[in-house]
This record gives sequence, C-alpha cells and structure tokens, in this order.
Amino acid sequence: MRTRFAPSPTGYLHVGGARTALFCYLQARASGGVFILRIEDTDLQRSTPESVQAILDGMEWLGLDYDEGPIYQTHRFDRYAEVIRQLLEEGKAYHCYCSKERIEALREEQMKAGLKPRYDGHCRDGAEPVAGVKPVVRFRNPREGGVVFDDLVRGRISISNTELDDLVIARPDGSPTYNFTVVVDDVDMAVTQVIRGDDHINNTPRQINIYRALGAELPDFAHVPMILGDDGARLSKRHGAVGVMQYREDGYLPQALLNYLVRLGWSHGDQEVFSLKEMIDLFDIRDVNRKASAFNTEKLDWLNQHYMKNLPAKEVADHLSWYFEKAGIDPRQGPGLEDLVPVQADRVKTLREMTDQSRVFYEDLQEFDAGAAKKHLRPVAEEPLRVVGSRLAELDDWNPESLNETVRLAAEELEVGMGKIAQPLRVALTGTAISPSIDKTLWLTGRERSLARIRRALEYVMARAAAT
Ligand code: GLU
Repeated sequence: MRTRFAPSPTGYLHVGGARTALFCYLQARASGGVFILRIEDTDLQRSTPESVQAILDGMEWLGLDYDEGPIYQTHRFDRYAEVIRQLLEEGKAYHCYCSKERIEALREEQMKAGLKPRYDGHCRDGAEPVAGVKPVVRFRNPREGGVVFDDLVRGRISISNTELDDLVIARPDGSPTYNFTVVVDDVDMAVTQVIRGDDHINNTPRQINIYRALGAELPDFAHVPMILGDDGARLSKRHGAVGVMQYREDGYLPQALLNYLVRLGWSHGDQEVFSLKEMIDLFDIRDVNRKASAFNTEKLDWLNQHYMKNLPAKEVADHLSWYFEKAGIDPRQGPGLEDLVPVQADRVKTLREMTDQSRVFYEDLQEFDAGAAKKHLRPVAEEPLRVVGSRLAELDDWNPESLNETVRLAAEELEVGMGKIAQPLRVALTGTAISPSIDKTLWLTGRERSLARIRRALEYVMARAAAT
C-alpha cells in the first residue's frame, strides 16, 4: 500500500485537507505501507512558501508523519518535460496552435447551442505551426470507448470518452498542468491508492486515460466528500477556524482534532473516542460515507475536554507549556503543569482557557474583581479569614488532603458552613469568586502566595470596615 497526500500550497492546511491527509495516513499505516507527502506547487502564481510551511507545520502538529517527501513538483519539471516529449513522439499528444480568441469563440458558440464547452480537436490531426505562436501540448484523448472505475467511496463511475476533450497538458511556456503532473507522479511514486477530495472526481476519467497512454497500472481511487459548516454550507473561512494551526492557537489538542476528523464521514458502531492505534486498526476508506458531513464545534469541544482529562497529564502539560509561553507566563513561578492539568481539565474546554484561568497561580494577583470583593470580602469575612489564615500558617504539609482538612476544621471552630470560609478565601486567593475547589485552589496557589494573599484580603476587609 502506498498512499500520498498531495496538497497545493495556496493557503492554509485546512480541515478538509487534514482529514484527507489523515485518511491517507491511516490507510498506509494499517498495512505497514508507505505514506508520501507531495507538494503540488506547479502553480507558481498561487503557491507560496508560507503556505508550504503551514502544511508542514500542520502535518507535524497533527503527528501525521510521512515516510517519503516532502516531494516538490517544481523539482520535477525535467521529468514532466521528458514524459511530454515521449507522448508527443508516440503521437499520444500533439501541439495545438489555436489562439485564445478561437477557443473563446468556440466556447461561446457551444454555449449558445446548449453544448458543454470543449475543445473541438482542430489541431489533433496535424496543425501547421503558426509563426510567433508558442503551442500548447494537448493530450490525445481516445474518441472511442469510455472509462469505468470503482471508486472506493463513491462506487462505480463510468463516462464515455465522447464526453471528454483533449486537455492541455503543457502550457505555451512548457509548464505542465495538474491533471498531467498528478498522473506522472502517482505512476513514478508507485501510488496504489489515490485518496482525495471529491472536487477532483471529474478529473479522474481524464487522468485514467493518461495512465493508459503511459501503459501504467491504475491505482484505486477514493474520493471523499466535502465538509460542510454547522449551517450546512460548504466549510469556508466564514465558519471561523479552518486552518489547522488556528485550532492549535485556539487551544485544541491534536489528538482531539484527529479524533474529530476521523469521525467526519466515518464511524464504527457508536464509538466516539478513538486512539490513533484504534483508528489505524479500524479505519477502512471503503467505509467512508459518500454524503458530505457537517462540522460540529460542540463535538470537537467535547473531544478536546475528553483528551485533556484522559491523556497522561504529562502529555497535556507538554502541550500546555506552548500556550504558557505564548501568554508570557513563566511556568516555573507556580505549580508544576502536571499538577495543574488534572485540576483544570474539568473546568475548561481548551488549553487556551486553561492558560487564561491559571495565570493567577503563576503571577501576582492584580485587583480583586469588584463584584466578587463587594460580595465576599465584607467585614463578616474578617474572622473566618483570620482563623483560616493562622491555621494554614501552622500547616506543615501543603497538600490537597491536609488543606481540605484545615479548612474544614476552621469552619467547625467558627461554627459556620464551609462556604462562609471558602468564598472569601477564594476571592482572597484568585481575586474572583470562581476557581477550582478550595483545597485545590490553595494547593495550586502555594503556601507563601496563599498566606500573603490572605493577609492582603484581610487588610482590604479591615480598611473597608474602617471606612463604613
Ligand atoms: N493538489 C490537489 C489539491 O490540493 C490534490 C490533487 C490530488 O490529490 O490528486 O486539491
């Protein structure tokens, strides 16, 4: 099994592309085969180095490692020229001198007559060179018979050759065109399964005729349906983050995105969570649904939280450190990220949120949230804060169990419910009324920081009492 992912570097690696890449990867891995990355950069106007980089970055972040490549089509121009010469020599391609104007007029005429616009073969049987005109090269598509193939997703597809015209395989400057280079590459790279978006399905019969002209064996084809947005329209920039790296920015784990992508158009019973190993074992391109599938952000969020909670904390922490760095938070100034992750994973949907909500454990506390302070740092909070503050100061072991016990005993001593202590304490520690459970909040804030913050809150409460 040899598969390839062959993106054109004309934009980001978007979600649809990433899913195609994943499918190619899984097919290769399932059989111990080879997965190739080929960069289809022959469109010099539209291809950019930034977008090549975005593809490489996206593949790396997702962990879709390839065995061969990246192979750049622009490095293979000599090879394409060689095959074009060969086809010309064998009479399987020909020079066409038709002017743009002629082609345009032909097109209009056909449209008017209600026909599909197609080249009429004017130069097919020998054309006189026209002085000063650089010809294109056209593939001599057979006029008889047709093409039949069994798409692994879409089933049998057949088309008569009379529907196809002689497509241009080299432009006047000699540069080869997509339908030609893709076949030369897939033949040279011995690709056995061509998996791509179904926007290419109309190209496939033309490509099959080129395979035949080259005397090459046909691969299997699998055309996967497109992805729709939540609203049923084709997924586009309008739907927010469609570049894969934007998902990283937004705080998603690659495991979550991969799991999400594999389920877009494929299922295995009612299982939702798949490890990479399970995907490799269970996925089969033949089981992909032929209908378009719709993007569902809620489900992606659910998977992201699932992986934040269930992957080893160390692994999540490694990802999290990237967000800390971006946010300018120094993880050495607070609890270990591996301790932080299990506490916060339940409370947030993304690593970005986790970062935002954890800053308080690593940096000085700024202002108290006005509403939270007004409600919880009132004169009645003085005694609870004072008592819990001194009990905590006496504590040797700063761990969630002993912290929980200490707060509980302080509540008993004061003969109040836990909440009467926990809420002022929470505002003292985090500046807000929302944080993990009070023992975990104390634990993450750390001993020195907690005691200092309690003192500060006490001063605030006393100043407020004095002012009234
Ligand atoms: N380069 C083409 C694209 O990005 C894909 C070609 C193929 O997979 O055959 O749409």
